[in-house]
Amino acid sequence: MAFEGLADRLQSTIKKMTGKGKVSEQDVKEMAREVRLALLEADVNFKVVKDFVKKIKERAVGTEVMESLTPGQQVIKIVKEELTALMGGEQSKIAVSERPPTVIMMVGLQGAGKTTTSGKLANLLRKKHNRKPLLVACDVYRPAAVDQLETVGKQLGIPVFSQGTEKNPVDIAKEAIEHAKAEHLDYVIVDTAGRLHVDENLMGELTQIKADINPDEIFLVVDAMTGQDAVNVAETFDSTLDITGVVLTKLDGDTRGGAALSIRAVTHKPIKFAGMGEKLDELEAFHPERMASRILGMGDVLSLIEKAQDNIDEKKAKELEQKMRTASFTFDDFLDQMEQVKSMGPLDELLGMLPGANKMKGLKNVQIDDKQLVHVEAIIQSMTKKERQDPGLMNASRKKRIAKGSGRPISEVNRLLKQFDEMKKMMKQMSGMQGGKKGKKKKG
Ligand code: GDP
Repeated sequence: MAFEGLADRLQSTIKKMTGKGKVSEQDVKEMAREVRLALLEADVNFKVVKDFVKKIKERAVGTEVMESLTPGQQVIKIVKEELTALMGGEQSKIAVSERPPTVIMMVGLQGAGKTTTSGKLANLLRKKHNRKPLLVACDVYRPAAVDQLETVGKQLGIPVFSQGTEKNPVDIAKEAIEHAKAEHLDYVIVDTAGRLHVDENLMGELTQIKADINPDEIFLVVDAMTGQDAVNVAETFDSTLDITGVVLTKLDGDTRGGAALSIRAVTHKPIKFAGMGEKLDELEAFHPERMASRILGMGDVLSLIEKAQDNIDEKKAKELEQKMRTASFTFDDFLDQMEQVKSMGPLDELLGMLPGANKMKGLKNVQIDDKQLVHVEAIIQSMTKKERQDPGLMNASRKKRIAKGSGRPISEVNRLLKQFDEMKKMMKQMSGMQGGKKGKKKKG
């Protein structure tokens, strides 16, 4: 999970502060030391750490804490505010050109995730903002890059402007913009060439493209897992190209968080988006406050709700609720519900968005295994239609057949049936408690 190591350390540090009726200078000193170590261990830039700790220390011994009725809480609030500020404070929005199309130039080193992110961004603009994007293949050095972008475009059903690898990238980009105008497309996302390392030729070419197409945004795509290297890359690209924002990819695999916490402070450029997985819908707008909240174990309920809204079919959810209330819930409905939850992403990622979930001992050691869901699915899929509607039919020979069909032991089949039975009982009780009152619905 993203930031896991840092989250663990910071959370145990601030836990000591919670509920403190008095905060002494010694307490602050100790906390500051622990925060410092936690950040350094997370591979945050040394200078950034120094400034950060200094700020916290100053504020924590100041009047806002001393005069507070809950000094411990106040210190935690300060840490959260400063973490938020470190990552850029407010969420940074994407530009909209007054004269469409809005042109976004994507730059970055090879392998950082530029092509994937171009596709993800186009997808997000279309899905969330109702925009009509055009993807442009300007990485003319690697024929495979053009193919890759075309594949991504095809997968998403988003048009890709490409002219092979013979032409000059500047000309391709210019023609693409004309094409977008003619087709009334409102965003042009230009996927440029990358190299394995920063080199002069690359920078020269990107500078030329920038001068000729005058983009509204220049997004630098960096791999969060490369930590301080990503920060150095960002500094170099920024000094040549004056980028407008950063997209951090592979944050899903970044347990440390050094790049996310340093880039803004070092380059003064905002992190606009975060890549949270390989799939083309796994790009999130970067919200510094929500991220700080996640790191400190306060959860990120807002993102969770947004995810649910994006992925859960409202009509289906209403039907399910109705079924639960009348206790006519079947295994088919159960399967449906599982599909919807699964579409929201890996379970441990979701759990990380719940306040305090990291701290719950029981949960911490449970390996939340998406495979278990696959097993449950296999068992349900091995039932006949009749059995799914009426689990009461189940007898020993049916159970045996289901176990064989799903490749799971009978004990697991039994367990699922029992759980389902208990769930139905609970639903009955709940709808009984609700009585005739239809107005007040309780979700859960
Ligand atoms: P490019 O050379 O910069 O265009 O990089 P690609 O777009 O080809 O991506 C390189 C690899 O990183 C691919 O295997 C992508 O699937 C993977 N990748 C990109 N973004 C993410 C992300 O946010 N999370 C994860 N886990 N993988 C990613």
